[in-house]
Amino acid sequence: MIEIKNVSKWYGPVQVLNDCSVNINKGDVVVVCGPSGSGKSTLIKTVNGLEPIQKGNITVDGVPLHDPSTDLPKLRSRVGMVFQHFELFPHLSVTENLTIAQIKVLGRSADDAKVRGLKMLDRVGLMAHKDKFPGQLSGGQQQRVAIARALSMDPVVMLFDEPTSALDPEMVGEVLDVMVSLAKEGMTMMVVTHEMGFARKVASRVIFIDVGGRILEDCSKDEFFGNPDGRQPRTKDFLNKIL
Ligand code: ADP
Ligand code: MG
Repeated sequence: MIEIKNVSKWYGPVQVLNDCSVNINKGDVVVVCGPSGSGKSTLIKTVNGLEPIQKGNITVDGVPLHDPSTDLPKLRSRVGMVFQHFELFPHLSVTENLTIAQIKVLGRSADDAKVRGLKMLDRVGLMAHKDKFPGQLSGGQQQRVAIARALSMDPVVMLFDEPTSALDPEMVGEVLDVMVSLAKEGMTMMVVTHEMGFARKVASRVIFIDVGGRILEDCSKDEFFGNPDGRQPRTKDFLNKIL
């Protein structure tokens, strides 16, 4: 579904991704962890073409991302993205937040978009809030709306960049629960998170990136958590700090 091949990226003279290669198959849940500043957000943003790369290739569902003939907005509409900050439109109701991109980007009718959007809102357990504005919802609820909004676009893959790290602790669980159920239903997901409980539950693979944007580990969750002695010293160091 996603092939990241020998990708390197620089911001000016500073290299932030160093020869990264990752393959994500349909239905995989790949958890990406690593220290702050290691390039996790940059890596995930390259996957929907939000960040240009200087070396390597990325293919999403068979489409080469950096090919000049690729219709990037169209491809992007099929890659769901959920960020740390929910980025809902504050002046639009929940329902309008769910439908606007379906109408403007996918060309759906307002009625179709509403049916689809509300179905996804129901799925994240927030139907009762459909007419509210984002400011009237808790952080956890806003993040669930952001997930519903991404799902409304019928994505082939969902990318999450630390979706729970800006939330109050009591709201982390409700967002992780939605993500766990998505994973169990077979959604292809790439998730930057330090929530190792989530990784243990549903990850098919865990990737560790070190400062400088180099992937030091890419292994199954059983290998990652079950064989600490087999891990790189930098990974052990990191896990000791967060666990
Ligand atoms: P992470 O998500 O792992 O914390 P990031 O991908 O955000 O890391 O950042 C990786 C590195 O790239 C950091 O050193 C960061 O300071 C740098 N960086 C990120 N965005 C930019 C930018 N727009 N311009 C210059 N440097 C950046
Ligand atoms: Mg980040």
